[in-house]
Amino acid sequence: MSQTLIVAKFGGTSVADFAAMNRSADVVLANPGTRLVVLSASAGVTNLLVTLAEGQEQMQRAYLLDEIRRIQYAIIDQLAQPEIIRDEIDRVLENITMLSEAAALATSTALTDELVSHGELMSSLLFVEVLRQRSAPSLWFDVRKVMRTDDHFGRAEPDMALLADLVQTQLAPRMAEALIVTQGFIGSEAKGRTTTLGRGGSDYTAALLGEALHASRIDIWTDVPGIYTTDPRVVPSAKRIDEITFEEAAEMATFGAKVLHPATLMPAVRSDIPVFVGSSRDPEAGGTRVCNQTQNPPLFRALALRRKQTLLTLHSLNMLHARGFLAEVFNILARHSISVDLITTSEVSVALTLDTTGSTSTGTSLLTQALLTELSSLCRVEVEENLALVALIGNKLSQAAGVGKEVFGVLEGVNLRLICYGASSYNLCFLVPGQDAEKVIQKLHRNLFE
Ligand code: ADP
Ligand code: ASP
Ligand code: MG
Repeated sequence: MSQTLIVAKFGGTSVADFAAMNRSADVVLANPGTRLVVLSASAGVTNLLVTLAEGQEQMQRAYLLDEIRRIQYAIIDQLAQPEIIRDEIDRVLENITMLSEAAALATSTALTDELVSHGELMSSLLFVEVLRQRSAPSLWFDVRKVMRTDDHFGRAEPDMALLADLVQTQLAPRMAEALIVTQGFIGSEAKGRTTTLGRGGSDYTAALLGEALHASRIDIWTDVPGIYTTDPRVVPSAKRIDEITFEEAAEMATFGAKVLHPATLMPAVRSDIPVFVGSSRDPEAGGTRVCNQTQNPPLFRALALRRKQTLLTLHSLNMLHARGFLAEVFNILARHSISVDLITTSEVSVALTLDTTGSTSTGTSLLTQALLTELSSLCRVEVEENLALVALIGNKLSQAAGVGKEVFGVLEGVNLRLICYGASSYNLCFLVPGQDAEKVIQKLHRNLFE
């Protein structure tokens, strides 16, 4: 095996259709160091499968299935020898049909994961064919053989030790034979049932496999040529960041920069593997290098936005018993497996948002009736929905003077619902009404980055 070992991950838009798959194949073949390819489902397919998994009536099922078939057939129809792979994809589609009939009768998280995993299974099968057509043989590998997770369906956690072992015994020997094409996002639990790592989880798969293989680099190929100072869809004048540290990029991902799944950088940091982010549509444009250290880390690095945040304000019912109130609140949240995201407190009340990072594959709400009932027995609960979390990511923010004025000075007329500053020197976060979010990001970007 050659010295360099690159794990390359291609997102949904990079395998959306035949042309996109060929561009991604160009990227793979341009670098002989690329030995393992991790793929997402073709763009749109996971969403369609999630809808099917929610349980649909026959007519709707047929419609959704047609949509999935249309996306995959558009690729098959452009292959020089489509026969073999068409049969194989047809079998996968039959499976999807059967599973979505089952979901219409009774949904379950296990069934959902089984169903949505078919997107990655199909895209990876098709990509092997695209490579074959380019006279570049590769092996299709079922990642579930090595990606052993717990059975927390929809948001499963990999077992790192087992993964490391299985990668060495099952995957590494195959990589000595040929280029391997495998699936992101999916895994399997001890009993062999399929699990998923949460939406956007293919980035995480690539990083985990990269770590287990002691890769020299992890390449994340997407539809933007790197990590920008903010989402270029919200601010077209956002600038590409050429080099960024693991910590800064992890903060961005945690606070909503969709370009990387929040957990992606954990394996990379642990094993000090640089991550490159670039566009498969325009590889010549270069990208962002995420690594251990950068030259002159700036005070303000980036802005991130996380939508659909729910704020809970809890007022103690009895001021005399306010002591121990927070401990009790945290106890209840822990019993419901919820971690707190942002928090501010006053003497007899506490305001907090629920941590939705790495949300489940179906996006079910964390705020259950059972949780509300239990909290209500302790305190008066107010729930505010449709807020947006704006995060300014930077370095030594809490040690710098004048940050408050720079940030809040431009937000005249905006209702700041909650502010968190000081616990981390890497970020300043606040909540604003959802409808103001983009305007706030645009104004702040103009003021701090342009
Ligand atoms: P993929 O399907 O390849 O995983 P995603 O849609 O998950 O792609 O992530 C890429 C998208 O992330 C971009 O199209 C962009 O709109 C969004 N994004 C959000 N914040 C940023 C940022 N700071 N820099 C670059 N892209 C960002
Ligand atoms: N296909 C999955 C999703 O849409 C995983 C991924 O794309 O990373 O969430
Ligand atoms: Mg993604």
